Amino acid sequence: MSDSAPQPTQRAPRAARWPELSIVVPVHNEADNLRLLVERLKAVLAAEVSSWEIVFVDDGSRDDTLSVIRELNADDPRISAVSFSRNFGKEIAIAAGLDHAMGDAVVIMDADLQHPPEVIPVFLAKWREGYFNVYGQRTGREDEARLKRNFAKAFYRIFAYFGETELPEGAGDFRLLDRKAVDALRALPERARFSKGLYAWVGFRSIGVPFQVAEREHGQSKFRYRKLFSFAFDGLSSFSTVPLKVATWSGAVIAVIAALTAVYFLLRTLLFGTDLPGFPSLIVSIMFFSGIQLLSLGMIGEYVGRIFAEVKRRPLYLIGERVGFDARTVDHPR
Ligand code: UDP
Ligand code: MG
Repeated sequence: MSDSAPQPTQRAPRAARWPELSIVVPVHNEADNLRLLVERLKAVLAAEVSSWEIVFVDDGSRDDTLSVIRELNADDPRISAVSFSRNFGKEIAIAAGLDHAMGDAVVIMDADLQHPPEVIPVFLAKWREGYFNVYGQRTGREDEARLKRNFAKAFYRIFAYFGETELPEGAGDFRLLDRKAVDALRALPERARFSKGLYAWVGFRSIGVPFQVAEREHGQSKFRYRKLFSFAFDGLSSFSTVPLKVATWSGAVIAVIAALTAVYFLLRTLLFGTDLPGFPSLIVSIMFFSGIQLLSLGMIGEYVGRIFAEVKRRPLYLIGERVGFDARTVDHPR
């Protein structure tokens, strides 16, 4: 995905009132992590950029997250937040963060310090070299349970095979996006958002930066298996129509088999007469076909469901409260 020699671009700041760098952080019940995160970010950012902001997206937290953010904002107005009316999920939270970030470049990162702020200078260096999409590539997933790791691996293999967009290996949400890429992403209206696929889909000059995933600082991961499975299917169905074709193809293959079987029974009956009423084969074939039909219907249903979700055109998210945005002009709400 990466070009060999990008031309360094002259990046004149868009306007003095916009920060050079925005940090977008989706947060869901992360009250314990935020202060440390901000501290470490500040230490890194001071030397790296002329101006910055941190945009938290409080994704329906039920702990003290929002009040901690309010305190952080009172201490430092460069820290602001939008707070959802309920939990909308990390993907949507990232979309909202991108909607509210004003920077010439935007870094997306987790709140739990698994994404080390110390990697951001490397992102910035690549950005200044002329890359528009600098993604962190995790080196190893040793921190995760073996089962989860294997599922992830299987998913990426399936996606690489069937998906219509190429995903760089080990790339996640931890990345820096140039304003151009951010605006491109914001123009994608879909509701089922599989960010990893969308980042790759918008393209632009991209490069990976390897980083070591840290241990989660406080609390535990919010992604359980069920959520991960539905996430995986969202990803596949948003970027591939292969599951739909499976129905067509298996239908065709079964029809051929059925025709051959019919010929076989016909000939046998003509030549030898019937010695055995064919109940077993009947039952087996009925069950087989019902199974295939249900499978195909289900598959189509999944897509229809997704179409339904899209055509309703509900807003992507609802904001319950803004912290630190009143004084600023949000001149590009969705
Ligand atoms: N998160 C979110 N909404 C959710 C679940 C998670 O905004 O519904 C945030 C969470 O606060 C964290 C990031 O997404 O900043 C990654 O979550 P987590 O660490 O639980 O996921 P993992 O590291 O296991 O992928
Ligand atoms: Mg985490």
